[in-house]
Amino acid sequence: MRVFKFGGASVKDAEAVKNVASVLQDYGQGPLLVVISAMGKITNKLEELVDAYYFSKDSKKEIFAEIKSFHQQITESLIKDENDYYEVDNLLIELECIIEKRRDESSTYDMEYDKIVPFGELISTKIVSTYLNKFGVKNRWIDARNFVITSSKHRSASVLWEESVPLIQNSLKPLAERQPIITQGFIGRDINHKNTTLGREGSDYSAAIFAFCLDAESVTIWKDVEGIMNADPKQFSEAQLIPKVSYNEAIELAYYGASVIHPKTIQPLKNKAIPLFVKSFVDPLLPGTEVIENDSRTLNDTQCYIIKKNQSLMTIASRDFSFIVEDNLEIIFSKFNAVGIQLNLMQNSAISFMSCFNMNDTKTSALLEELKDKFTVNIKSGYTLLTVFNYNDSNSQLEKIIDDRKIALEQKSSSALQLLLID
Ligand code: ASP
Ligand code: MG
Repeated sequence: MRVFKFGGASVKDAEAVKNVASVLQDYGQGPLLVVISAMGKITNKLEELVDAYYFSKDSKKEIFAEIKSFHQQITESLIKDENDYYEVDNLLIELECIIEKRRDESSTYDMEYDKIVPFGELISTKIVSTYLNKFGVKNRWIDARNFVITSSKHRSASVLWEESVPLIQNSLKPLAERQPIITQGFIGRDINHKNTTLGREGSDYSAAIFAFCLDAESVTIWKDVEGIMNADPKQFSEAQLIPKVSYNEAIELAYYGASVIHPKTIQPLKNKAIPLFVKSFVDPLLPGTEVIENDSRTLNDTQCYIIKKNQSLMTIASRDFSFIVEDNLEIIFSKFNAVGIQLNLMQNSAISFMSCFNMNDTKTSALLEELKDKFTVNIKSGYTLLTVFNYNDSNSQLEKIIDDRKIALEQKSSSALQLLLID
């Protein structure tokens, strides 16, 4: 059994869907489960729709119309018979019914999000599955929510392995052995049958979840880049392909923000030693990257440059001038956790704690509210976090990247150098 994953860019229009079909024809032999994301940037649009719906904005109808016509344009280009895509129409009607209804006053923003945003994946998989069935790649569409069982933490649910493994092993595996399966990334369901999602870009993680539960022989993530690169090729003209990388190095790279794979993807694969291939759907003949177990470091002296823009820097000091490492850290960390801010870099001095995280006005205001009684807080935005993984100062391109920007914070560990640059 193998698992393939196709992201939004690989199904962004009708031509792209046809390309997925040709990749499957050429490379999809044998038992296969295919995980697919929402088409193009539709998840962003659906997020706008949630916002408009939740706050009863007039733009709701317009946004829905855009989502509908985007998908209909694609199905019209792929159509053979009038009724081919009736299930896509049904899903669009279902979505429209949800947003027409008055919102349940007791439901939270995140619950509404998980009701609405999964339609991106449900629709895209229906389109791809229908197209494939019409054009010779016989497959079965499966609703991932019946198999990926999660906690009820909406928008960042964690997998309940004890529930999901037997379902996938006993009910899904026999089906997948008979026919290729097309299913959704990113979505699941809690034990009360409420929709959940795994966090943005979570489809890679879904592929790993299925692979783990199916004891798959490999996972292939098909991307619009050659494979895992040592820097974002859109930002660095000299970016190079990394042909082989160990699970541990890949985890670190993803953790520091290399956007090629979702950070949670590797661990389940590593646990069962399932190799991961990252390959180009544009040019499948290229070798791509292989992520495998390897005791020695596979990167050798290749340095990886990872850039995170739109960072905020927060400095927190105790009002009573107590040392920050006394009882204060525990309070500070719990507040960050409560509002859902993840730290990208942190440092402390005797009486202050500095941290950098992705800019987010809503969460930051909530955090300021939580901290204001006990601490003085200073927050500034407009920073870029540069991480050089596998840093070595002899042949680094650091100077060139920093250019003439000032450094606000600097941290070095055995594996990485991190610099917070002022834009
Ligand atoms: N469609 C979701 C997103 O764009 C999940 C994914 O693409 O992995 O975040
Ligand atoms: Mg996506």
